[in-house]
Formats: sequence, C-alpha cells, structure tokens
Amino acid sequence: MRDTLAHLETDDAPVQRWQENANCLGVDPDLFFPERGASTREAKGVCAGCEVRLECLEYALGNGEKFGIWGGLSERERRRLRRQRALARRNAASA
Ligand code: SF4
Repeated sequence: MRDTLAHLETDDAPVQRWQENANCLGVDPDLFFPERGASTREAKGVCAGCEVRLECLEYALGNGEKFGIWGGLSERERRRLRRQRALARRNAASA
C-alpha cells in the first residue's frame, strides 16, 4: 500500500499542510478518479471520515480541479457549488 495522498500523483502542486492529515493517505488513487458512470460511493466514504475535508474541498475549488472526488464532492457537485457561490456573490453585490 502506498503512503501517498491519493491526489498527489495527479497534482504537480506542492504538498499542502492539510494533506498530511488526509484520510486518503495510502488509498488507491483510482478510487478518487472513477470511470465515467462508476460509483463514487467508496471514495466519498473515505472523505466522510476525513478531518481535512473542508480544506481539501476549498483547495479543489480554488484550483479549479476538474476531475475526481475532492472534499467528498464529485466534479458535478463542485460545479454546482461554484455556481451557487457565484450566484450568492452576485446577489450580495446587487443588494
Ligand atoms: S476529503 Fe477525501 S480526497 Fe480530500 S483529503 Fe480527505 S479523504 Fe482525501
């Protein structure tokens, strides 16, 4: 079993401090990058018990990560969250 964070192998960015506490350390990276239509349940289960889930999610959102499960959310779920936040910002600006 590898002792690396699942996402590091696909990410050239320097290791973030929060990644040292990631629940996915040593977990097969393929789990977090399922084929189209494949289940994300197992990866999300790993994320559910992760103490740095929010840091991971914000990192993915901030870096525009387009693929994989980050912070317990799929690409589609992160896109939806980005849209919701953008809408909230626009509404706040126009209020
Ligand atoms: S939230 Fe999931 S992908 Fe992110 S560090 Fe934790 S276990 Fe890994």
